[in-house]
Amino acid sequence: MATEETNNQLAESLSLDDKLYTVRRKSLAESHISLDEQLCRECLNRICTYICPAEVYVWDEAKNEIDVRYENCLECGACRVACDGIEWANPPWGTGIAYKNS
Ligand code: SF4
Repeated sequence: MATEETNNQLAESLSLDDKLYTVRRKSLAESHISLDEQLCRECLNRICTYICPAEVYVWDEAKNEIDVRYENCLECGACRVACDGIEWANPPWGTGIAYKNS
């Protein structure tokens, strides 16, 4: 039986991608997140690129825009609070993240 210490060691050894792989989701056909792209280009700190625990927002230098990896969203709501340029809606009923006891 795993102890709390071994669970913590295992959690620390996993990459973010490994951890996200363990989250159950029902696929979204389209993004539940949209951005004000002009605001993103002019933004000085792009807080979304570091506040999101699932690294949903990634600045694409070549395209000069934010790449939104909405499939990884954990629906925590942090980005909604952090930036007025983000339009975030709850995924349609029956899609999105599935928490253990939901
Ligand atoms: Fe990232 Fe949370 Fe916003 Fe989803 S709701 S994109 S997990 S900050």
